[in-house]
Amino acid sequence: MKITDVRTYLLESPLQRPFAYSRGWADRRSAVLVEISTDDGLIGWGEAFGPGRMAIGALKLVRPLLIGADPLAIEKIWDDLYGRFRDHGSKGPLIDALSAIDIALWDIKGKHFKLPVHRLMGGPLRTSVPAYASGLFRYRDGDIETNLVKEAERHLARGFRAMKMKVGFGVEADAKAVKTVRKTIGSDISLMIDANGAYDAVNAIRLAHRIDDCDVAWFEEPVPPEDIEGYLEVKARQPIPVAGGEAEFTRFGFRDILARRAMDIIQPDICAAGGFSECKKIADMAHAFGIRCSPHTWGTAIAISASLHWLALLPNTTSALYPIPPLLEWDCTEHGIRDALLTDALRPVDGVAKIPEAPGLGVEIDREVVRKFEIQ
Ligand SMILES: [Mg+2]
Repeated sequence: MKITDVRTYLLESPLQRPFAYSRGWADRRSAVLVEISTDDGLIGWGEAFGPGRMAIGALKLVRPLLIGADPLAIEKIWDDLYGRFRDHGSKGPLIDALSAIDIALWDIKGKHFKLPVHRLMGGPLRTSVPAYASGLFRYRDGDIETNLVKEAERHLARGFRAMKMKVGFGVEADAKAVKTVRKTIGSDISLMIDANGAYDAVNAIRLAHRIDDCDVAWFEEPVPPEDIEGYLEVKARQPIPVAGGEAEFTRFGFRDILARRAMDIIQPDICAAGGFSECKKIADMAHAFGIRCSPHTWGTAIAISASLHWLALLPNTTSALYPIPPLLEWDCTEHGIRDALLTDALRPVDGVAKIPEAPGLGVEIDREVVRKFEIQ
């Protein structure tokens, strides 16, 4: 079998209700998809976390190197592409592109052998995973506390037993918001916070102490991703477990985080950190270091399905009668493209998502939807 074509799609969908996180406002959602065709007639789909035109540019750059290659020799393709560009692209859009290619190749491999990706890779270790509601952003309309209470109540009504809220808007405002959400959801629902790297270590530590009665399950990206010393300081000087890594890439990037024990929970994104091939390695490395792995997921049906197959492969922390289950991040914000591509099989029911069982990723891509949102 040989690769005959690699097509890229940049999709965009405006938001009805723009939202803010700690570093700015979002008024649209986008998606970068890749479609790889073979001379056997098999097609594989992949998705890159971002960023839009840069990831598309990287995909177009590597396209000529893929034509004619054996799509089943995924490690070889990964190594060849990484080796070719590593001096200028060991992090960022090239690895996002490589992630999308790797996911599409595993989709092809699964369809070729008529098995879901997680079975080809040695799974499943589990057939379903609990999902957490990821949301609780800021909006222009309404007051902050009322919006947070209403949204948290919606997540509870849908059956989620865990949710994550945005912080990074100022220590006092954050403390008030976190206390409001904790009061709304009661004590048996897990609550995580995410600053998206907006704080320095001083303010991250101040916030953590201001909310030490809120039983926060993890503090995500308290400081910018490149501030490893800051992560170590936050870890050492406050009680909340520290998470991060959605902006890190490949086994080589995570090696340094793990070796320095800079995070309690790493959160690679399968559409950014290097795809299935690489994320399996990263998770196994984390396991060897005794550090938890909880995937970051922020995309369409392809990203969600890929994350679910990977979640089926994550080693338990630890090998106990009652291991700590890994969680699926379920993006609860508006996303027209995701909603149009999603099928019910991928949606969590009562806060639990099933691992897909159809060959490959188990996702059918509706070309009408791709055409509708395509901007390039
Ligand atoms: Mg995050």
